[in-house]
Amino acid sequence: MRIIYIGYWNNKDNMYPDFPLPVEKESKDNSEAIKQLKFIMENSQEKFCKGASTCRCCGNSNGTSEFVYQDKNTKYIIPSGYMHYLDSHGVKPSPYINEIYQKAFVKFQRVGKYFSNK
Ligand SMILES: [Zn+2]
Repeated sequence: MRIIYIGYWNNKDNMYPDFPLPVEKESKDNSEAIKQLKFIMENSQEKFCKGASTCRCCGNSNGTSEFVYQDKNTKYIIPSGYMHYLDSHGVKPSPYINEIYQKAFVKFQRVGKYFSNK
C-alpha cells in the first residue's frame, strides 16, 4: 500500500522535517481546489485524531480529524485543517488534490447517476 500525505507540515521547531512548511499567499485563487477538496472529503473516510492540529500560519486550532481516500493500492491522507490553509492562507494546493478529485469524480458521479436514473 502506497500512502501519500497531503497538507502535513513541518513546524518552526523542525519536528517534522519530512514535510515542508506552508507558504502563505502563494496562490491567488484556490476556489477550484477548494471545491475539489470538499468533494474529496465528502467521499472519504473521516478518522478522528487524539489531539488538535495547530495552524502553522496563524496559530489557531485547526482540526482534529483526517480524511482518508483510498484508490486501489494508494491511500491519500489529508487533515481536515488543510481546507483552512487553502481558504484562509492562500497556500498553493497540492497537485494530488486534482488527481484524487478526477478519480473520485469518475467513481462517485457514476454511482450517483446510476441511482438517480432508477
Ligand atoms: Zn491559519
